Order: sequence, then structure tokens, then C-alpha cells
Amino acid sequence: MTQPSPSPTSPFRQALARMQPYLPGEQPQGGKFVKLNTNENAYPPPQAVIDAITAAAHSGLQRYPEPTALAFRRRAAEVLALPGPDWVLAGNGSDEILTILVRGFVGEGQRLRLPYPSYILYRTLADIQGAAWEQIPFESGWKLPAAFSEGDESLKLAFLPNPNSPSGTVVPPDEVLRIAESLPCPLVVDEAYADFADTNCLSLLQQSDKIIITRTLSKAYSLAGLRFGFALAQPQLIAELGKIKDSYNCDALSIAAATAAIGATEWQAENRRQILATRERLAARLAELGFDVTPSQANFVWCQHPRFSHKQLHEFLKRNQVLVRYMDFPGWGDGLRISVGTEAQIDACLTVLQRALAEAGG
Ligand SMILES: *Cc1c(COP(=O)(O)O)cnc(C)c1O
Repeated sequence: MTQPSPSPTSPFRQALARMQPYLPGEQPQGGKFVKLNTNENAYPPPQAVIDAITAAAHSGLQRYPEPTALAFRRRAAEVLALPGPDWVLAGNGSDEILTILVRGFVGEGQRLRLPYPSYILYRTLADIQGAAWEQIPFESGWKLPAAFSEGDESLKLAFLPNPNSPSGTVVPPDEVLRIAESLPCPLVVDEAYADFADTNCLSLLQQSDKIIITRTLSKAYSLAGLRFGFALAQPQLIAELGKIKDSYNCDALSIAAATAAIGATEWQAENRRQILATRERLAARLAELGFDVTPSQANFVWCQHPRFSHKQLHEFLKRNQVLVRYMDFPGWGDGLRISVGTEAQIDACLTVLQRALAEAGG
């Protein structure tokens, strides 16, 4: 895409006037789509969360909430076996946490790093800040090259979605620690999907003050509509980041819901078990249909067909009320990212996909 040239009379900062907006996946508001395009959880949240919201709605919405979401931070520290709530920063979705991190570490004219292909939002956050971003391409097999861990003083922050999107692949924790220790700046490990993975980097926090983990309740806790995410790091980092957030960035209803959700460990384990079972069935069926399927540790599957146009498959699916994500990464390639829905949703998707391939001559 060509950059629109900023109007010389624009009252906005040049960096803003020059940048492209971030485009989130489609969110059709009618009920008729099988929606497998933005990695939401296919199942509703636990009843305890609904009850907590109802109770909170009846107990003092006229007052401001506790400004740091302390109830949530206490519960999260317990559940995640961290020393205390001062290791946790709560935010209005992990996207807000990512914004706070960029504002905190990367000044105008400085630089952040991300792997490629990965989560495009990090670039947008750099653009807003008037900062530069650089992408380090994954090597084959979704391994990070040595260049990802090297850099000079102008590099102020590095992002690693782990599991990565769109691939669903994981960089193992011992390697994450090695990368963090050799970088000249903090490393944000974006664990939006870690609840679906075999490993995570929680145990590294006490070993390294260069690692910041971000998490969200949007995916593994079925609360994308609520907007709640958090950062985990050593207390001195959390305290500095706390200066940046809005005074009341989390509302009373979301704090109550998030506190109930993070404590619903049995619900979460059962939900995870179901999604992983469906994921393996989806991956196996896609392989049978001739797709190259990247083994996933997230709640989505990245697949590429050696013979058919991904764009056309995406359009065929959409015409038939199945929404998956078509992603094109210039210089790298394109493919389909399919969220792991319910068993019935995945059946519907596979049925339409099979028809699409048959009509395209497969
Ligand atoms: C979904 C997602 C997020 C954002 O989560 P929210 O809490 O809904 O803002 C962050 N990082 C990655 C890689 C994601 O896929």
C-alpha cells in the first residue's frame, strides 16, 4: 500500500498523519456466520463470571473502581504462583497493555522489533509513537535467527508472540531466556495463546528482569467482549508501567469478571482439553484435504494449500457463511488461519472447504 501523504495543513502529528490504521479481523454483528476468523473462544464463559458481573452491577457502580484492579492481581498472583500482586499490571485488554509497553520503552525516533510474520499491531503502536519498527523473518520451521537477539542501543523493545500468530508455533522457554539475556532491551513475550500451549515462560520472570509477559482473558477465558488483559514482570517494572496507565483503566464489572475468570481453573482446564481435541481433529482433516498444516499450540491452525488460491478459498467460505482469516504477508506468502471453534462449527467449515476444493478441481 502506498502511504497517503499527510496534508500540509493537518493539525495532527506527522507520524499519525502518515500512518495506516490497524485493521482488526471482521466482526459481523449478525448471528449467521460460523465465525472462525479472530481466535475467540467458541464456548461461553463460566457461570461464575456472569454471577460476578451481576453482583458487581448491584454493588456500587456510582463509585470509581479500585484503580489497580487489586482483587484481580491478588487472585492472578495466587493462581499463577507468583510472589504477589506487585508482579501484575491489569489493563483494558492486552492490547492496552501493549500500548502501555510501547509508550513506556520506545521514544520518538527509537526502534522496536518483532518477528515476521507475526502480530501486526506492534507495528501500528510504533507508528503512533513516531517510532521505527523492524521485522526479523522467521527461519524455516518457525525458528528465530540469531539476528533476533542482536542489536544496538537504538533498539528499545522486542516483541515475541509465543505461541506465535499466525503459525501457532512456540519458541521454547530456555531459548526465550537466552534471547532476552542477549538483547540490549526488554523482551515482551506475548502469551495471548499460552493457555493452549505445552509450555510458557512464567518461570523465567524470577530469573530475568528483561522479560515481560502479557496475557489476555479474550482467548482462553472466553471474554473477548469484556476487554481484560495483564502484564507480568518483576515489581520494579510493573511499578514504572503503572505510571502510564489511565487512573481507572479497568472498570468495576470487568475487574469482578476477571477475578472470577482467573480463579475458574477447572473450567479453564476442561475448555482447553476440548479445544485441543478439536484442534487435532481439524489439523488432521485439513492434511487429508491436501493442506500443509503447521502443528499448532494455540486455538487456531495455520494452513496452506500447495495448489489452490487461498484468497479464493476464503471467498468461497465467506459466501457460504464461514468466516476464516485470509492472511497475506508480503515477501513471505499467504494462507488461511482457522480458529478452533466448536465441533459443529469445525464440521461446517470442513464441509464447505471440501466443496470449495472439489469445485476448484481438487
Ligand atoms: C488476541 C491477541 C492479543 C489481544 O488480546 P486482547 O486482550 O483481546 O486485546 C494480543 N496479542 C496477540 C498475539 C493476540 O492474538
